[in-house]
Amino acid sequence: TAPAIRAVSLPNGGIVPALGLGTWYLGEQRARRATEFAALRTGIESGLTLIDTAEMYGHGAAEELVGEVIAGRRDSVYLVSKVMPDNATRRGTVEACQASLRRLGTDHLDLYLLHWRGRVPLADTVAAFEELVQAGLIRGWGVSNFDAPDLDELASVPGGARVQTDQVLYNLARRGPEYDLLPRCREAGLPLMAYSPVDHGRLLEDPAVSDMAAAKGVTAAQLALAWVLRVPEVFAIVKASTPARVAENRAALEISFSAAELEQLDQMFPPPSSKVPLEML
Ligand code: NDP
Repeated sequence: TAPAIRAVSLPNGGIVPALGLGTWYLGEQRARRATEFAALRTGIESGLTLIDTAEMYGHGAAEELVGEVIAGRRDSVYLVSKVMPDNATRRGTVEACQASLRRLGTDHLDLYLLHWRGRVPLADTVAAFEELVQAGLIRGWGVSNFDAPDLDELASVPGGARVQTDQVLYNLARRGPEYDLLPRCREAGLPLMAYSPVDHGRLLEDPAVSDMAAAKGVTAAQLALAWVLRVPEVFAIVKASTPARVAENRAALEISFSAAELEQLDQMFPPPSSKVPLEML
């Protein structure tokens, strides 16, 4: 059996594996469905029990695939979905959540995120999230694509302190959060959920990354993932469409770096020396 997976604790006591499964673009093509289903099942069975989805992905198609994957094993996964900003009103958030639950075939989410900031006042979305917690439809809520000033504003809203995570773009090629967002989250005890940890596939095309991975005896995907996972307060979600790739990504949890290797990566991808506005995909 594979070694145990590092776990990350959320403020509300929830515990998630440091690496989870992304679902953007999954469930959209019939011809690929069986392989994608097998990829997600492989992940869950190997301990990658954190699943990230959203009502936006494939207009519900990703949630429907996840629903099939977790049928009969709901209790062994930590399920995260997201509400789109335009739906994130007091009433719209509750309705969007109920629709997600129907597609996912479950009675609760472990975590429900605001996908990105829109025009709806944060206070309304937070009030709706708190109502969903009270009703037992979600165990906790969080945000996504929030930069440090957005988190400050959230903290000033009634109930805003009950945020569980901020899901943001963070990888070797997008190190901006290291300047202020990551330190801020660390101080607040808020773990950061890194999305697109292999930069939506782009890092896998970088010859310098491939060369260094080969020298280390790992794959480019494993190198990029292990680098994101080097930070204790960070957990990540990676999307892969085949069981073999999921297994490869799972093995990244066993990879560590020497100080010299980290220095080499800093040369290739310099850390931020001043504020970089949060990027998003
Ligand atoms: P990732 O960084 O996870 O990269 C996914 C791409 O990398 C896919 O093309 C995949 O290929 C490829 N890949 C993954 N592992 C391997 C491997 N071992 N070998 C070769 N290729 C590999 O990008 P995502 O943008 O998908 O981010 C991950 C998840 O984060 C999303 O799926 C979604 O759940 C979430 N997300 C959230 C956002 C937000 O705004 N909150 C924005 C973006 C993402 P293939 O699929 O063909 O196997």
